[in-house]
Parts: sequence; C-alpha cells; structure tokens
Amino acid sequence: MATYIVLLGPPGVGKGTQAKILSETKKLAHISSGDLFRENLKNQTELGKTAKSFMDKGELVPDDVTIAMIKDRLSRPDCATGAILDGFPRTPAQADALEAMLKEFKGSVSAVPFISAAENILIERASGRWTCKAQGHIYHEKFSPPKQAGVCDFDGSEIYQRDDDKVETVAKRIRVYLEQTMPLVDHYRKAGKLIEIDGSQSVEQVTKALFDALVQQT
Ligand code: ADP
Ligand code: ADP
Repeated sequence: MATYIVLLGPPGVGKGTQAKILSETKKLAHISSGDLFRENLKNQTELGKTAKSFMDKGELVPDDVTIAMIKDRLSRPDCATGAILDGFPRTPAQADALEAMLKEFKGSVSAVPFISAAENILIERASGRWTCKAQGHIYHEKFSPPKQAGVCDFDGSEIYQRDDDKVETVAKRIRVYLEQTMPLVDHYRKAGKLIEIDGSQSVEQVTKALFDALVQQT
C-alpha cells in the first residue's frame, strides 16, 4: 500500500525542511505546492502567471487550479509508492479533492504530522529564509546558513529571498493560514491521522519527533 504523508503547519514552521529529510529517508517523492508554483513562475507558464498575483499578496491560489496541478504531479510514476505532501491540502475543498484522487490511485492519507510554533518564531524563520533558485533547497541566514554566502551547498546555484517572505506578507500568510487551513487540523484529528509535533525545537529535534511518531503511525 502506498504511503501518503501530509505535512500540516503554518508558513515558516519548517515543513519544507522536514519534508526534504523525510523524502530522502523514506524514499518517497517530495511534493511541495509552493515549489511547483515557483517553478511555473520561473518558466512563465500560464499557471505561473495566474498563481503570481495571489502569491504576491500572500493569498491562496484558487482551489481548482491548485488541485489540478497536484493531481497531475501525483499521477507521475515517482509517486506510485506514495509521497510527502508539503503545503497541500490547505483548504477543506483541497482535502476532499486529495481523498478522491488518492482513492483513484488506490491509496489514502496515512498520517498527518501537524508542526506548530508561536507566531514570533514563524516570522523570524520565514523572514530569514533563503531559497535555492535551482531546486528549492532551504537555508536560514542565522539557523542554517550555506557554507558560502549566497550559494547553494548542494547544486551551486544562487540563493535568494522570496518576495513573499517580507514581514508584512508573512503576517498576512499566517492570517490566511488561521482562517483557511486551521479547519484541517480538526478534520484530520477526527480521522485519527493527526500527529502533533512541537516545531519550536531545533531541526534535529523536530526530525526525531517526526520519525518516532511516524514509526507508530505508518
Ligand atoms: P509556506 O508554507 O512557507 O507558507 P509555500 O511555499 O507553501 O509557503 O507557499 C507559498 C505560496 O504559494 C502561498 O502563500 C500561496 O499563495 C501558494 N500556495 C502554496 N500551496 C498552496 C495551496 N495548497 N493552495 C493554495 N495556494 C497555495
Ligand atoms: P515552511 O516550509 O513550513 O514554510 P521551511 O522549512 O522553509 O518552512 O523553514 C522556514 C525557515 O526556517 C527556513 O529558513 C529554515 O532554514 C528555517 N528552519 C526550519 N526549521 C527550523 C528549526 N527547527 N529551527 C530553526 N530554523 C528552522
């Protein structure tokens, strides 16, 4: 049976960082809706142009567009054994759509780690985040700087600060998260799939908490 793990949590809490570690260890594809949108932006596709106006304002891209993009990604062969979903679903409609598409692929959501931390931590993390242009590797100017300033350790590409990581936009994204994504916490708790993780700890401690909890759940 395929393993689909949904990482839930506010912007900046560390979902992408943990998703990359989980994906390598568990040999599962890492699907980040934000990375997919940014790839479309870079390639100037129609989807990228549509997404940009919402992303710049810190709002969610409409459900229909987002769901179609994820369905297309999940249909690829590297997701046959499952995937780590990072940043999707973010609304109840997206969660319902995910359930329906996984049913089609003869699977279901296995576990939902919910990583949380106080708002000041989220702002500090997101506003100090640097992202690699080529593949989205994640750095922090204070907590996990690259070996050489401005250059990705893994692929040598340039690292940059995302436009939507400005303090005002991060604050807006947190509000949007509280309004539109928080209902999913209850949804997955009721389904018996939620695993609560304290995201205020170090990267290593969060990884350990995640792995310990997932051993029992998946
Ligand atoms: P973070 O988790 O750090 O908030 P992401 O990279 O996941 O950031 O998302 C960046 C932006 O991309 C979001 O603010 C939103 O505009 C868009 N986005 C990403 N995932 C979704 C989604 N599932 N539904 C709608 N919009 C999304
Ligand atoms: P998300 O995908 O939830 O928006 P990221 O994984 O991109 O979050 O992390 C946001 C920022 O915080 C990045 O700069 C990352 O290096 C840093 N970070 C992630 N986890 C931790 C942690 N546990 N402690 C300190 N900094 C962290």
